[in-house]
Amino acid sequence: MGTRKSAALGICFLALICAACAQKGENVADKKGDGKVTADAAAALGMEIAADLDARIAAYAPVEIKVPWELLDENEQKVLEKLYRASKIMDELFLRQVWSGNVDMRDKLAAHGDARLAGFFALNFGPWDRLNENQPFIGTMPKPDGADFYPADMTAAELEAWIAAHPEDKAAFQSNFTVIRRAEGGLTAVPYSKEYAGLLGEAARYMNEAADLAANESLAKFLRSRAAAFMSDDYYQSDMDWMDVTGNLVDLTIGPYEVYEDNMFNYKAAFEAFLCVRDPEESKKLDGLKGYLVKMEKNLPMDDRHKNLNRGSDSPISVVDEIFSGGDTKAGVQTLAFNLPNDERVREAKGSKKVMLRNICHAKFDRILYPIAERVLAKDQLGYVTFDAYFNHILLHEFSHGLGPGKLTLADGTETTVNLELKNTYSINEEAKADIVGEYNFYYLIDDGFFDRKLEKETAVTFLAGFFRSVRFGTDSAHGGANMIIFNYMKEKGAYAQDPATGLWSVDFAKAREAVTGLAREILAIQALGDFKASTELIEKYGKMGDDVRESLSRLGDVPKDIVPSFEIEKRYAVN
Ligand code: ZN
Repeated sequence: MGTRKSAALGICFLALICAACAQKGENVADKKGDGKVTADAAAALGMEIAADLDARIAAYAPVEIKVPWELLDENEQKVLEKLYRASKIMDELFLRQVWSGNVDMRDKLAAHGDARLAGFFALNFGPWDRLNENQPFIGTMPKPDGADFYPADMTAAELEAWIAAHPEDKAAFQSNFTVIRRAEGGLTAVPYSKEYAGLLGEAARYMNEAADLAANESLAKFLRSRAAAFMSDDYYQSDMDWMDVTGNLVDLTIGPYEVYEDNMFNYKAAFEAFLCVRDPEESKKLDGLKGYLVKMEKNLPMDDRHKNLNRGSDSPISVVDEIFSGGDTKAGVQTLAFNLPNDERVREAKGSKKVMLRNICHAKFDRILYPIAERVLAKDQLGYVTFDAYFNHILLHEFSHGLGPGKLTLADGTETTVNLELKNTYSINEEAKADIVGEYNFYYLIDDGFFDRKLEKETAVTFLAGFFRSVRFGTDSAHGGANMIIFNYMKEKGAYAQDPATGLWSVDFAKAREAVTGLAREILAIQALGDFKASTELIEKYGKMGDDVRESLSRLGDVPKDIVPSFEIEKRYAVN
């Protein structure tokens, strides 16, 4: 099972997230504070409510996500409605996966009519603030590490001991698609199809109904096989069918995918859905990048013998506008792009699909990235901060995860991987690689004529603005740490400079290009040699935040940290 941060598998969350308080199609961030109501809710719940709830809510910019009805014929609109209803069930499934007390708490909040609190709860899928290290904002209970995938009182050691004593249970216990429960005298693995039979059956029914209506055969095939997987817990064939969906406008990704909510073992997959409308023309245009994979590998600034020219995975690119998201992906930070499936057998056979959520990227650019640029970049360079540069760098970042060293043979003949050799520095190193090699490839594709020359300056300045967005979340995360390294390196090489009078930053274009190549070379060399010591030194030398950056970040107080979508489709087809 993949990780969003690892090379081959990465959806990494380049730009983080958000979630919707989809409850009643209302937007939590639109509500004005009313301390009295919140106090009443606290009393009804018998729990304390965080005093700074308003500030927590204000961290999210409300964004309305519309449906491009004009692009869809009558039949596609009918398909869309069924698929929305199936996707909405992922909300219910994920709510149960996060914590056993969630449904009860939601009902109490709804009964009490405090829409702000209920909305913030819905946005976080539970009483823990995902943007602030999961601090509880209702009550004081810490978020359970194992979510509701394991018995609340079970420790990691207990599970490990059980598997050691019952090796025949190992596969079922470590499966992505079972929950662990207490049974007479011990532990037992219950398949998702049984644990969530009712909700999964309902979702499967909507998907089969949509398949019967759908004119696109490849989509219908996927919907039927995924519906069957909900009943069998065997997702392989439906992952294969998902890779083959083509020629469609209405697009659905649905199922149990990522394992991060299981913070105890990363075994258990969380339910989620992305319901989208594809842009066939833009998808086709960017799909041309597939032809560049080997060329980009050849062009990397590293020794030829370390280049991996046999990666021939046929990875399609899809540009879509999201019209609804459900479950895991909607909790906390909103996803910009994803790369699925995670099943290595499918990736071997068919590669993986990169899906770019264009309207979400646009919303974050407008509401977060550009406002940040206005506060910290020199006025004469603001015109170079563009959506095109932002969007294409996100795509090239994802691409670049798949470039460079992966499997290694050390000098003594040991077969290993970059991941194993770089140990706990791997995630930061890999994210820094994706970012800087992504930028390096941007220049390459401009030189080769794939992208317009005007993007050369735009990507340089937009990349700098993106740094300030990323490090706001701290330098401990892989993305934040990676960005800090890049910024300090670029600054050292004279690529970034601060005006002492205004404190605003600007890019020296010639030096920026040179520095990008220099840092890409250093990071790729570390990976090619599996050099843990050099990786550690790179982080120590460049990973710290200086006072200059801290001062710049202090100017961003009023800029939201993420967006919270309210979905038009939810209002049209209100479930209640
Ligand atoms: Zn990444």
